[in-house]
Amino acid sequence: MHFLPLRSVRGRLLLAAIAVEALMLTLLVANSLRLLTDNMGSQARRHAEQMAPVLIAAIVAPLAQRDYATAQAVLDESSATDGIEYLAITDQKGRRLAASGWPDDKPLPAPDRGFHLFENGSESPRYDVAMPIEIYGQKLGVLHFGLSLRQIIEAHSQLFRQGIGIALLEIVFSAGLMGLLGYFLTRHLSDLTRASEAVAAGNLTPPPVPEGDDDVGRLGAAFNAMSRAIAERIGDLTTARDEAKGLARAAEAGAQAKAAFLATVSHEIRTPMNGILGMTDLALATELTAEQREYLTWVKLSGESLMRVLNDILDFSKIEAGQLGLEQVPLDLAEILDSMVGIYSAQARSKGLKLSWQATGDLPATVISDPVRLRQILSNLVSNALKFTEQGGVDIAVQTGESEQPGMLYLHFTVSDTGIGIESAKQDMIFAPFSQAESSTTRKYGGTGLGLAIVTQLVELMGGSIRLESRVGHGSSFHFSVQCRSAEPDKPSGAQPSPAARQTSDSLAGKRVLLVEDTPVNQVLGKRLLGKFGCEVTVAEDGEKALAMMASAPFDVVLMDLQMPRMGGLEATQLRREREVAQALPHLPIIALTANAMADDRERCLAAGMDDFIAKPFHADEMLAVIRRHV
Ligand code: ADP
Repeated sequence: MHFLPLRSVRGRLLLAAIAVEALMLTLLVANSLRLLTDNMGSQARRHAEQMAPVLIAAIVAPLAQRDYATAQAVLDESSATDGIEYLAITDQKGRRLAASGWPDDKPLPAPDRGFHLFENGSESPRYDVAMPIEIYGQKLGVLHFGLSLRQIIEAHSQLFRQGIGIALLEIVFSAGLMGLLGYFLTRHLSDLTRASEAVAAGNLTPPPVPEGDDDVGRLGAAFNAMSRAIAERIGDLTTARDEAKGLARAAEAGAQAKAAFLATVSHEIRTPMNGILGMTDLALATELTAEQREYLTWVKLSGESLMRVLNDILDFSKIEAGQLGLEQVPLDLAEILDSMVGIYSAQARSKGLKLSWQATGDLPATVISDPVRLRQILSNLVSNALKFTEQGGVDIAVQTGESEQPGMLYLHFTVSDTGIGIESAKQDMIFAPFSQAESSTTRKYGGTGLGLAIVTQLVELMGGSIRLESRVGHGSSFHFSVQCRSAEPDKPSGAQPSPAARQTSDSLAGKRVLLVEDTPVNQVLGKRLLGKFGCEVTVAEDGEKALAMMASAPFDVVLMDLQMPRMGGLEATQLRREREVAQALPHLPIIALTANAMADDRERCLAAGMDDFIAKPFHADEMLAVIRRHV
C-alpha cells in the first residue's frame, strides 16, 4: 500500500521535519515542567523549614506553662499566613492541644515522608509536615502544619497547556513554511517528471522544462538538451531508415532488372547457339575432308565451351540474386550416374582415362530431389577431374546416410581423380567465385573459376556441404553430400552401375512429330535431327498454325517453341488442352523446346499443360531421351 504524501520527496521531507520538531518540542516542554516542579518544590520545602522554627519559638513558652489558649491564639494568627492550610499542636501521646484550620473531629494527616507534588490524588494537594517542640532537651509536643501546593500545581498545568499550545502552533507554522519552501524547491522537479513521462509515452518533443542556476535548474537544462538530442537522433534514424528502404527497393528493382536482362540475353544467345551447334553436328555427320572435319570440330568445341561459360554466369547470377529454385521430383540415382559416365566416357577415353561409378551399400530406387542440379554438380566435378588428370582415372562413389529429419536421407558422393592435385594453401580459395588454383590454369585448361563456386552454392541449397582432400601430384577427392526426401524408404534397389548406360535401343522410326518453330535455322535443324531418328516431321511456324494442324492430322508428339509471332507456345498448348477436354480427344504429348532457360520457365510450361521441357541448345541424345519418355 502506498501512502501518497510519502511517495514525493517533498512529502517525506515535510514529515521528517515535523517529526523532528515535535520530538524537540516535547523534550523542551517536558524539561521546563521538570525544572518548574523541582524549583517550586524546593521553594515550598525551604518555606516550611524557615516557618517551623519561628512558630515553635512563638509557642514553646505558652506550651511550657500549659497556656494552651495563648498557643491557640498564635496558631490562629499564623494560619492566616498565605500558603498555610492548617496548624496543630499535639502532646507526646498525640492528643491535640490546639488546632487552627483543621476540623476537631478529623484526625490529623500523617506527615509526608518526602516532597511529592502529585501524590495526594484528587484531594487538595498539600505538603504535611510534623516537627517536635523541645526546650532544653525536654520534649513538649509536636507541631503539625500543612503547606498548600495548589499554586505550584496550577503553575505546572498552566505551563503544560501553554507549552503544548505553543508547540502545536509552532508545528503548524513550520509545516506550512516548509511545505511552501518544498513546493518552491521541487516544483521544477514535478515539471521534469511530467516531461519524462511524456517522453516515455512516446512524445519525443515534450515542452521544455524550466532551467536555472540551481541544481534543479541545471537538471532541467540537461533534460532539455537531452530531449533535443533524442529528437534529432530519431529524426536522423528515420531519415536513414527511409533512405535504406529506398536503397533496398532500388536494389530489388536492380536485381529484378538484372534477372530480366539475363533471361533476355540468355534467350538471345541460346537461339543462335542452337543453330550453330546443331548445324555443326549435322555437318559433321556428312562426308567431309579431314581439314573441314577438323575446323568444324573446333567450331563445335568452341560453341560448347561458350555455352558452358554462358550457363555458369547465368547460374551464378541467379544464385546470387536468390532466384534459383529447386525442383522436388522423383529421380533415379543409378540412371543419373549412368548418364554422367555415358556423357563423359568419350572425353575420358580420348585421354586414356578410366571413368566409373560405384555405390557402397544399397541405394534407394528413387529419391526426391532436383535431378537437373544434381547432374550439374556431378558434371562440374567430373569435368574438372577429367580436365586436371593426365593418367589414371576418375571415380564417382555414392552412399546413403541417415538424416535427423524424418523422411529425409543424405546422399554422400565422392568424385576422386589421380590428377595434378591442389596445394593445401589454395584448397579453400578455389571454392570462391572467379578463383583458380594457378593463374596458368586459365591459359592451359581454360575455365572461368565459377564452377566450384556454383557447386558449393548448389550443394548448400540442397542442404549439404562440400569439402576437398587433395595432394599435389597424387590427385583430388571432392566429397559432397545433399539432403533428399526418400521416396520409398523400405525398398532399396540394389542398383549397381551398368557401364553401357542404357543405350538408345528403341528407335523413333515412324513417329509423327509436329515441330512448332519460327526460326528457319532451327526448323531445318529440328527436321534433320528428328529425321535421323526416323521421325516423320511436320513444321508449323506459330501456335495458330500448329493448333490447326493438330486438329487436321494425327501426331504422336509435338515439340513446341515458346516465343513465336501471332501465338506463342504456352497459349497454343492451353487452347489444345481445352479442346481435348471439350471434344474428348486423346492427350497429345507436347514438349517445350525453348531458349528460355530461367528457373521458373519449366513451371510455366508445365502449368500451361505441357508434358516436358527441352532447353536450347540441346544435344541430340537429350532430345531423343525426352521424346522417348512420351511416345
Ligand atoms: P574453372 O571453371 O576454372 O574450372 P572451378 O571453380 O571449377 O573453375 O575450379 C577452380 C579451380 O580449382 C580450377 O581452375 C583448378 O585450379 C582447381 N581445380 C578444380 N578441380 C580440380 C581438380 N580435380 N584437380 C585439380 N585442380 C582442380
